[in-house]
Amino acid sequence: MKANLVLKNAAVYTVDSDLSWAQAIAIADRKILFVGSNTDVEAYIGPDTTVIDLDGKMVLPAFVDSHMHPAQSAHIYQYGLGLFDVTGEDQIQAYLNAVRQYAAKNSDAPWIVGGGYSRSAFDEIGPRKEWLDEIDSVRPIVITSTDGHSMWVNSKALEIANIDKDTPQPQEGVIKHDPKTSEPSGLLQEPGAMNLVAQHIPEPPKEQIKNSLLWLQGWLNAKGITTVHEAMLGIEEHHIIEAYDELAQDGKLTVRYRASWNISPEGDVAAQIDQGKALSKRFTHPHFKAHSFKFFADHVTEEETGLLLEPYAHRDDDWYGIKVWGDDILQDAFSQIDSAGYQIHVHVIGDAAAQYTLDALEFTQDVNGKRDARHSFAHLQLARPKDIKRMGDLGISVHTSPYWMIIDDYFWKLNLPYLGHERAFYQQYPFNSLFKAGVNVTIASDFFVTEPEPLVAIYCGMTRRMPQLVFDRDYGGKSNYRSISDPDAELKPGDLGVLPPLDERASLKDMLVASTLNGAYANFLNEDIGSIEVGKLADLVVLDQNLFEIDIEEIPTTQIEMTFFEGQLVHSTE
Ligand SMILES: [Zn+2]
Repeated sequence: MKANLVLKNAAVYTVDSDLSWAQAIAIADRKILFVGSNTDVEAYIGPDTTVIDLDGKMVLPAFVDSHMHPAQSAHIYQYGLGLFDVTGEDQIQAYLNAVRQYAAKNSDAPWIVGGGYSRSAFDEIGPRKEWLDEIDSVRPIVITSTDGHSMWVNSKALEIANIDKDTPQPQEGVIKHDPKTSEPSGLLQEPGAMNLVAQHIPEPPKEQIKNSLLWLQGWLNAKGITTVHEAMLGIEEHHIIEAYDELAQDGKLTVRYRASWNISPEGDVAAQIDQGKALSKRFTHPHFKAHSFKFFADHVTEEETGLLLEPYAHRDDDWYGIKVWGDDILQDAFSQIDSAGYQIHVHVIGDAAAQYTLDALEFTQDVNGKRDARHSFAHLQLARPKDIKRMGDLGISVHTSPYWMIIDDYFWKLNLPYLGHERAFYQQYPFNSLFKAGVNVTIASDFFVTEPEPLVAIYCGMTRRMPQLVFDRDYGGKSNYRSISDPDAELKPGDLGVLPPLDERASLKDMLVASTLNGAYANFLNEDIGSIEVGKLADLVVLDQNLFEIDIEEIPTTQIEMTFFEGQLVHSTE
């Protein structure tokens, strides 16, 4: 049999079980036909074969991003008010200028909806409604923070949601109040508070969602990503669900999606799970399936809503964060999902969240028996060593975001005061420990929390430091920050350096396996993708240099010259 396409003279890192290297790949009908030497690939070259001589460049399996929010994020980037890249010496003023410009440009939009402000730009009360009221007091303004866990709103949005100073605090969230006036200040934290407003925002038209997903996949392909886990699909978000499925059915996707149905502790949990199961059966296209269920065990430490074993250091009221689920309800929900053969995907930030979720997963395994379940945690900022061992024993995946395993602005302004010195400096983001415990570690951007750049994630996982290009982009214009590369340097507050402990750094080999095969495994795709082996789909990236042969500082700026999705060239710098 002859190939459609042959890549030769390459440094092919196959990520097969021996982590072997090859020189050439032959591809026919979307799949890999041959992997081996330049000499042996000749047999697959016929008159119609396209042959690309790669001149020593590196070939890897294409990357998997195991936890992100593609539809929502792409829609904000394409149609909403994006504050993600807005920076300035006066950060708050820079945000307000961007809001003002967007409001003027979109004068006929009934709502101003956006995302991307950083909580670290504001004080503990957060951004204020009055600043937005000055820009527009007639239309509601709703902006989600870049971590997705809070919302900045104006007075009109509060009015539509019927929130005033007497509104009781919701169970799973906080309505922030101005300490001087006792009025709601304009910050809503976590779903219990955010949904009071969010439920009134009109659902975006399906065509807009499709357009933004098509735009996003071009970006993902350019970063070398061809598989994504959509980590929070609402069972009522019909336009989003149908947008994915219709694009898949029409053969338009160059990214394959796996997805998780979001289960809320409010309302009938068993009924939500049944609805998710029924929906799962409807969507069977290889480019869009949803066989997983998403839970939040807690929220985030920067909103004081991540669940900790020891109280938050900056408060004197013994505050541990939010425990989203009661143990019994969580155990019932997990067992119901597991016994039906579906996956469980849990947002876990704090060490106490890890502990009670592991208890529920162990309970599930005890009642249902051990099976190839591939349940998973996402994020994991803090976890005790004995709980990391339990993760390995349970065979779960942890979707990590090495982008965050650094000392940045968040660290100094939020992590350090909230967690205290010991936890902030020495216990955040256990990483190498996960590999050592036998956890299936994967890489995730949590986009829009972080813009997906697998080579940046690989660098951060290996160094626990922000790459220079990210420093220049995000902090370069601000005079009060220094970028420090020496891991032993004494850091002054505000210095952006290496996050200890150093033995939590991972190797290049582990980072590459985590970014490819482990992501495939977590999504039950390891028979199809994740390594370069005969019979698998040809999802590949070509890099302009061999990551094993260059200085580590060059990894983030390495060019992704080509990306192939099922044998089709979907990105090229040529
Ligand atoms: Zn997420």
